[in-house]
Amino acid sequence: MRLLITNDDGINAQGLRALVERAAKCPGVEVTVVAPDRERSATGHAISIHQPIDLREVGFDGIPARVFASSGTPADCVKLAIEAVMEERPDFLISGINRGPNLGTDVFYSGTVSAALEGALLGVKAMAISLTAFENLDYAAAADFAIEQALVAAFDTSWPVLVNVNVPAVPRESIAGVAITRLGVQTYEDAIKRREDPRGRCWYWLSGVLVENEEIDDTDTCAVRRNLVSLTPLRMDLTDTRGIQALARRSFRWPPDEA
Ligand code: MN
Repeated sequence: MRLLITNDDGINAQGLRALVERAAKCPGVEVTVVAPDRERSATGHAISIHQPIDLREVGFDGIPARVFASSGTPADCVKLAIEAVMEERPDFLISGINRGPNLGTDVFYSGTVSAALEGALLGVKAMAISLTAFENLDYAAAADFAIEQALVAAFDTSWPVLVNVNVPAVPRESIAGVAITRLGVQTYEDAIKRREDPRGRCWYWLSGVLVENEEIDDTDTCAVRRNLVSLTPLRMDLTDTRGIQALARRSFRWPPDEA
């Protein structure tokens, strides 16, 4: 099995290392890593089209995997891996393990999810996986879960093409099970800090504090609060089908008739 691993926290991130170490222990799994050479969180699905992209083989000490660092975005890394680095297409892609959750509307900003989505767009089954806290993280349980599922999912035609996984950041024995979910809502308050620099010019810093939303039973946000591993299958077609019907009922007289 050919497994491609990437992330958005960068090549030196602990979550990536944990995943690669776990994957490399599986007999018959050939691991290729192409990851950003720096932190690229919240870069969404950006790709680099106005500058060249650097790619160098770095390796991970003692781990039998091909490991590359790239100056590109997470989506660039996946494109490079599939179209330039790997001689044969990967059987599965894992993006992560991200430091911090990617729940609900976070998926629109997430480099972790976008990297998985890029794989899916290129026809490779993919999983994005995130651990839902920022401090004192133990990636071992999430790494086990990701690799165990990937081994099954890669060759199971009924497995969805793109799954977003969030693992609660609690000790393994406190994980309450697995929930299949839909995207919830993540809203942030007080999102922009305005300051003045020493020359009197204003600058801004995007921040934002998570608002605890009402719990909606079948969502990813709710599942992780209940210490469940959340699996949300995502699709690439964002079309609002009810919106199509609503717009189709209107008559767009445009361009208007000449008066
Ligand atoms: Mn990240």
